Amino acid sequence: MNRILVKYSLLTVLFAPALVWADVVTDMHQNRHKQLMKEQEEAVRFQMMSDSIFEQPCVADEEEDPYGNLDVYSDWDDAFVDPLRGKSDAVIPDSQYISFRGYVMPICGKVTSPYGWRRRRMHKGVDLRLAVGDSVRVAWDGRVRIRKNQGRRKGYGLYLVVRHPNGLETVYGHLSKQLVNKNDSVKAGQVIALGGNTGRSTGPHLHLEFRFMGVALDPAELLDFNTFEPKNNLYHFKKKHALLVQEGLAGEGDAAYHRVKKGDTLGGIAWKYHTSVERLCRLNGIRASKTLRIGQRIRYK
Ligand SMILES: [Zn+2]
Repeated sequence: MNRILVKYSLLTVLFAPALVWADVVTDMHQNRHKQLMKEQEEAVRFQMMSDSIFEQPCVADEEEDPYGNLDVYSDWDDAFVDPLRGKSDAVIPDSQYISFRGYVMPICGKVTSPYGWRRRRMHKGVDLRLAVGDSVRVAWDGRVRIRKNQGRRKGYGLYLVVRHPNGLETVYGHLSKQLVNKNDSVKAGQVIALGGNTGRSTGPHLHLEFRFMGVALDPAELLDFNTFEPKNNLYHFKKKHALLVQEGLAGEGDAAYHRVKKGDTLGGIAWKYHTSVERLCRLNGIRASKTLRIGQRIRYK
C-alpha cells in the first residue's frame, strides 16, 4: 500500500512539471485556436456580407429590401446627412471591415480642396474639379436616402446621399441637377447627377463625402487621387481613429491655441511653438499672408 503510494507520489513528482507544461501548451494552443476561430469568423462574416451584397442580383422588387443586410443601420429616413443624429441608441462598432469592391470614381477630377480643417470649420469631404453639367456617377450600388436642396448659396446646395450595402454612405454636393429620386435603387457607375456650383461653393466642383454611420472618413485614406482607385479592397474602419480624424485631431493629440498679441506674426508663433508656418496655415485653414487680428486664436497643435 505504502509502496504504491510512494510510487504514485514519485510519478506525480516526476510528471508534475510535464503536466504543468502540457497545461501551458494546451492553453497556448487553445488561445491560438480561439484567435484563429475569431479571425475565421470575421472572414466568414465578411464573406457572408460580401456574398449577400455583391453576388445577389440587385432586387428591384419593392417588397424585398436589398438593404436588409445593413444591420448597422436601424432607420431609413432623410432627416439628416448624419443618419445617427438625434438617435442616442445607435452604437457605432469599434471596428468594421468595409469592402471597396466594385468602386466607381464619381468624377475623375483634380482635388481642389482636401478633407480637413478650413477656417475653423471641418471640411468633411474632398472637392473634385469638374465643369457644370459633367456626369456624376454613384460610387457603388445603393439606394438614394436623401435628395435635397440646401439653398442657392447655402451648404451643399443641391445634394444627394446614397446608402450602400457595404455600410458606407456617400454624399454628393453642389450639383446642378439631381437625376435620381429619394428611395431609388442605383447601380455602381450610374449617372445620378450633373455637377454644378450650387450652395456654398466658389466654383464648379463635386463635394464628395464617405461616411460610415455618419462619421466622415478622410477620402485620402480610402482613395489614391492620382489613379482614382481605392487604396485597398478592404478598408478597416476603427472608430477611435475615425472620430479623431473627423475632429481633425488624428495624430495631433489635443488641440492647443495661441492668443494673438500685438506684434505677433505667424513666423513668430511658429518659432515659439517649435512648428512651421506651413503647419499653422494647415491647422487654421489660412494663408501665410493672412493678417492676424489681436485676440484671435491660432491653433498650433
Ligand atoms: Zn467640399
